[in-house]
Amino acid sequence: MEKILIFGHKSPDTDTICSSLVMEKLVKSYGLEAEAVRLGNLNKETEYILNYLGVEVPRKISEVQKGQKIILVDHNEKEQSVNNREDAEVIAVIDHHRIASFETVLPLYYIAKPYGCTATVLYGIFKQENIEIDKQTAMLMLSAIISDTLLLKSPTCTEKDVETFKELEALVGINASEYGLEMLKAGTDLSAYSADEVINLDAKEFTANDKKIVIAQVNTADIDDVFVRKEEIEFAMEKQISDRKLDLYVFLITDIINTNSKVIALGNEKEVIEKAFNVKLDENDSAMLEGVVSRKKQVAPPILEVL
Ligand code: MG
Ligand code: MG
Ligand code: MG
Repeated sequence: MEKILIFGHKSPDTDTICSSLVMEKLVKSYGLEAEAVRLGNLNKETEYILNYLGVEVPRKISEVQKGQKIILVDHNEKEQSVNNREDAEVIAVIDHHRIASFETVLPLYYIAKPYGCTATVLYGIFKQENIEIDKQTAMLMLSAIISDTLLLKSPTCTEKDVETFKELEALVGINASEYGLEMLKAGTDLSAYSADEVINLDAKEFTANDKKIVIAQVNTADIDDVFVRKEEIEFAMEKQISDRKLDLYVFLITDIINTNSKVIALGNEKEVIEKAFNVKLDENDSAMLEGVVSRKKQVAPPILEVL
């Protein structure tokens, strides 16, 4: 039987990895062969979770064979997907993002909901199809929701995410808030990473108006812990801009305790930040964005709009 490959976006985050693994269980429950894989290295938060659960790290791939059947989770945009996606056959997408740079030759399952997390969408499918959720699967979903909603504090968090969080918490029988804080904190340890790795931990590329931009983000419990490395971070950003011919590189340092972000912007289009957020970039090319934690809802839309 032909094996279906399941993966999320480049620079995988917890939702991308956990939802790939959950989707693998769902697909296998239909008697199909499937394997969750990944397009990049795990971040510390996801490492913590897989280690905690004793789940094996999915295999890393950089391209797909011609005609390979694939399922996308937690993304749809071409720039964020496997490099040669046009060679593969997308048979399903489970997502919670805007739809852009996406087209297929053949019909497909496409399930997108404006929830805070892909795992919340998957939970709904398990319920609807009456498929049993084992504890490990429940923990994977719960971890993804905690990550994407910053423990239900992000403006991307919906009623559905809260409801799902509570049902999963009851199912696994742990204190999800305590677990969640430990998990999020594990993700803020950036000490082992070079500046280049730091900016690539969670970086997403977008195009608008023929302009190519990257918005990268890291979580921290203290913005200054990351901002002290500003010089090497800016150096790494400049290198990305010239190597990838980017018009703008936006780096967000997000304080998960106080739920706000400091932005550093470089590139020819950096003034876009001033227009998008009605702020002035200081001499460090940076500005504080109060109450801003979500790239998807609060950062990418205003930038793409004024670009
Ligand atoms: Mg994601
Ligand atoms: Mg997600
Ligand atoms: Mg994210």
